[in-house]
Amino acid sequence: MPDRTPDYQSWGRLKPAVRRAVGSERFVWPRGERSEEEGAYLPFGNGRSYGDSCHNDEGTLIVSGRDRPSAIHAFDPETGLLTADAGVLLSEITRHVASAGWFLPVTPGTQFVTLGGAIANDVHGKNHHRRGTFGRWVESLRLDRSDRGSLACSRTENADLFSATIAGMGLTGLIRQATIRLLKVPSLSILQTTTRFDRLSDYFDLAEAADARHEYAVAWIDSLSSGVSLGRGHLIAGDHARNGDLSGVAAGPLASVPLTPPVSPLAGPFLKAFNEAYYRKARAGTREATVRFDSFFYPLDRIGDWNRLYGPRGLHQHQSVIPAGDGEAVVRELILCAKAHKHGSFLTVLKRFGDLRSPGLLSFPRPGYTLTLDFPHRGEKTLRLLRELDRITVEAGGAVNPYKDARMSPETFAAGFPQWRRLDALRDPAISSDFWRRTAGRFLARGAVDVPTNIENSSGSVASLFTLGESSARQPA
Ligand SMILES: Cc1cc2nc3c(=O)[nH]c(=O)nc-3n(C[C@H](O)[C@H](O)[C@H](O)COP(=O)(O)OP(=O)(O)OC[C@H]3O[C@@H](n4cnc5c(N)ncnc54)[C@H](O)[C@@H]3O)c2cc1C
Repeated sequence: MPDRTPDYQSWGRLKPAVRRAVGSERFVWPRGERSEEEGAYLPFGNGRSYGDSCHNDEGTLIVSGRDRPSAIHAFDPETGLLTADAGVLLSEITRHVASAGWFLPVTPGTQFVTLGGAIANDVHGKNHHRRGTFGRWVESLRLDRSDRGSLACSRTENADLFSATIAGMGLTGLIRQATIRLLKVPSLSILQTTTRFDRLSDYFDLAEAADARHEYAVAWIDSLSSGVSLGRGHLIAGDHARNGDLSGVAAGPLASVPLTPPVSPLAGPFLKAFNEAYYRKARAGTREATVRFDSFFYPLDRIGDWNRLYGPRGLHQHQSVIPAGDGEAVVRELILCAKAHKHGSFLTVLKRFGDLRSPGLLSFPRPGYTLTLDFPHRGEKTLRLLRELDRITVEAGGAVNPYKDARMSPETFAAGFPQWRRLDALRDPAISSDFWRRTAGRFLARGAVDVPTNIENSSGSVASLFTLGESSARQPA
């Protein structure tokens, strides 16, 4: 019997619900009528996705994270190959391998992500320009499907499913185990270089050179600054220090947010004052310091349940990727758009993606610039802003990140991921998600006659697809 609990929220906390869930360790595909099983399940890791791509409110979640039993089965300190269950957290992998001089080749901004979740979303980190996405480091995986049983998948075996499972948002089957390659590092400590910049154009002058010089690079942007200071911030670069620490144990939480405030404090004058103080925290020019790995990669992990600060209605994260050519103009337009809607983003991050291709069929990163904005949900006002951000992104030939999203239109999704039909063809019929039903599912229900499936990601063609998709949305079902 599945559990019924309200615990399986995604990180955005936008839709509280009592959800059905079953532990992956005791899950077997039920035998029965196909119609009963259609789209009835969805794998779930640790719920660090922001939106509804890890939810299936019409079905049952198959949970591999959240303290379900999982283990690291093999680690070779000579080659850096590691085999683990999908439910193992990235924090556990780091703890296991660090003392032998290995680290995660790619890590997102939280270490409380499962191995399965990192593969299914093909996550990226601050070193995309050097290492690409997480999926590039997956050697093989074991996939459990309702219709084909347990399959070994790699670049040479069941290669189509391997590619569709990386960035497949859990739709191709349940990943039971995976083997990944780790990164050899001299230490986990990071020699961090912080450069304060006074305007957005300065970031664009610095970013490419920073990527060429450093393993990691990312910028924090003061999205509330205006006039000549618009888009000022810090460019934070880093490299593994030669003589640093080899402990992979992160410091414990500094504090936890015990309850959800009735109104988000992350707005208005507080937000402006915070940004001003944070901007001034880095002195003008460039500064170097050696810092712990967890303070460089996972500063937010030290505040337990920080997402509660966004208030009872939850938070939206909007992450776009824009082709490099128009990067600066479009990023400026996105920031100005949020300002015009009087919606401050608490945490605004800008990063350059490199051109290393992912094996993942629906991978989000592509060459260009990625801007991430966080907003408390304030109803239709917020949704209007997000639609406008989508429009700017799509017209620029970019894409909006599906695993951060809880509300994008089918047209926005198809514009950024014209290859979605190939994923649908390889989807496990017993699996679906709220995200998939809301986007691809609507096209499929309509017959999708006018949705092109193979479009170059150039600004002209994607913009015309967007227009086309909008008109199809008005057709009766
Ligand atoms: C503070 C913070 C910082 C973040 N920073 C980044 C970042 O820098 N870069 C980035 O890319 N992302 C980032 N993210 C997003 C996060 O890394 C991803 O959403 C990640 O995939 C979540 O993994 P999870 O284990 O929590 O899985 P969930 O969120 O529970 O699920 C994610 C997806 O994986 C699928 N899935 C989970 N387990 C399995 C399995 N065993 N088999 C098949 N499919 C499975 C689910 O169906 C779902 O579609 C951040 C999130 C937070 C909260």
